[in-house]
Amino acid sequence: MNKLKIAFYWAASCGGCEIAVLDINEKILDVIQIADIVFWPVAIDIKYKDVEAMPDKSIDVCFFNGAIRTEENEHMAKLLRQKSKTLVAFGSCACDGCVIGLGNLWNKEKIFERAYFETPSTKNPRSVTPQTSLKVKEGELELPEFYDTVKTLAQTVDVDYFLSGCPPPIPCILQAIEAIASGKLPPKGSSLLPTKAVCDECPREKKDRKLHEIKRIYEIDDDFKTCFWDQQVICMGPATRAGCGAQCPKVNIPCTGCGGPAPRVSDQGAAAISALASIATNPSVIEQVVDPVGTFYKYSLANSILRRKMMK
Ligand code: SF4
Ligand code: SF4
Repeated sequence: MNKLKIAFYWAASCGGCEIAVLDINEKILDVIQIADIVFWPVAIDIKYKDVEAMPDKSIDVCFFNGAIRTEENEHMAKLLRQKSKTLVAFGSCACDGCVIGLGNLWNKEKIFERAYFETPSTKNPRSVTPQTSLKVKEGELELPEFYDTVKTLAQTVDVDYFLSGCPPPIPCILQAIEAIASGKLPPKGSSLLPTKAVCDECPREKKDRKLHEIKRIYEIDDDFKTCFWDQQVICMGPATRAGCGAQCPKVNIPCTGCGGPAPRVSDQGAAAISALASIATNPSVIEQVVDPVGTFYKYSLANSILRRKMMK
């Protein structure tokens, strides 16, 4: 049997999705029985020009993590789409923009102002900011352009499958690799996570779910058994796709939504706000949400109906 050719790539990401691949531990030995890893910048010394030289569609599956923040991210998304038969948006950044997408609350100018001038630890007496090209005596140095708006992978190129999570859950990564190896994949455009919400995997007991006020997790004496909503704490479980086994609610942390929108939910934040509105006992409850975007759109702003803040 011909071995699969697999690629992994990171665009605008923290690297956590790459660590998740390593977290499959000794199962990586099973993976290399059935697949050759032909491109993986974090682990293998292969250059972009080597990918450019590969015949089109010669990579069987590319797992692409990270959002599209720069010109380089966009170039690699297009190149890997061209070279891959199957492209998987891997992790919340590639699927929904994730925390990188919160940059859409500002634009390039504001982000540079903050990063290169305002942060307390920054000293920048010559007011240097990144430039796309710089002439030095040895020649010209180039940096990719930093875009105003963070995009998801599917807003940039055609994507075959989505495997969200921050990072994706290890059992779901293994199931996805098995499905790819056996050719038993769902229809194009599907999520490779389970078709249910985090609440469906959560053992916490749901009671009357009436929200009289909003509390932060440190303000309650959690009994580890009752749904967070019943304890007046916002939990993104109802609006979030499962696959993680409700790991966070099981250890005293409300779900923050990294699995992306639950099945049949098109806008994760709007779905959570709607759930909150339906159980709030008075309209002033919503005003108690300390950080509405960070609470409801932490992982999905770039892929939401809002997409980005309009800048004047
Ligand atoms: S999805 Fe989460 S773990 Fe993966 S790159 Fe983005 S921030 Fe990091
Ligand atoms: S809202 Fe949160 S705590 Fe409640 S059942 Fe769903 S995941 Fe569990």
